[in-house]
Amino acid sequence: MLRFLQNYPKGLEKVYDAVYRVIRLFRRWLQPNSRLEPVMIWGESVGKGAVFDCQMCGQCILHATGMTCPMTCPKNLRNGPCGGVRSNGRCEVNPEMPCVWTVAYERSLQMPKYGHTFNQIQPPVNRRLEGTSSWVNMLAEIDTITPKGWHTPDKTTKTAVPHNE
Ligand code: SF4
Repeated sequence: MLRFLQNYPKGLEKVYDAVYRVIRLFRRWLQPNSRLEPVMIWGESVGKGAVFDCQMCGQCILHATGMTCPMTCPKNLRNGPCGGVRSNGRCEVNPEMPCVWTVAYERSLQMPKYGHTFNQIQPPVNRRLEGTSSWVNMLAEIDTITPKGWHTPDKTTKTAVPHNE
């Protein structure tokens, strides 16, 4: 429906910034399990569902993935494509679709502010946050809690991807 908007990542990162600026004013009330969380869940489910096919993982990293939802990858990969991506850039599991990560990379190059964060290593997805509000989780900083034993070697060394910075 509104998926075409993903082809305008530069505009979407501005929207992302604007939403962040507004919701952080309400961080006091936007707590996990608060009365407002269901409203946020509904808003994300409808809004981000329409534009990004959001799967409600509860740990949004859209700004670091070219405004392309990594959870729409059939393997739910969060750190780049699998080894099965086809030479024509199509998905190994579903050849009808382009690899989410080839698209994410191309789009991230169009993002002046957050494009470089594409190279950041993302921690494993925390399935316990599924179905919750990623905005609320971000404000409460529970989306960055990593499993015991997880070490991010260097926040910007996922790969030597050239970015126009
Ligand atoms: S990364 Fe998670 S919260 Fe963000 S759009 Fe994808 S499924 Fe939704």
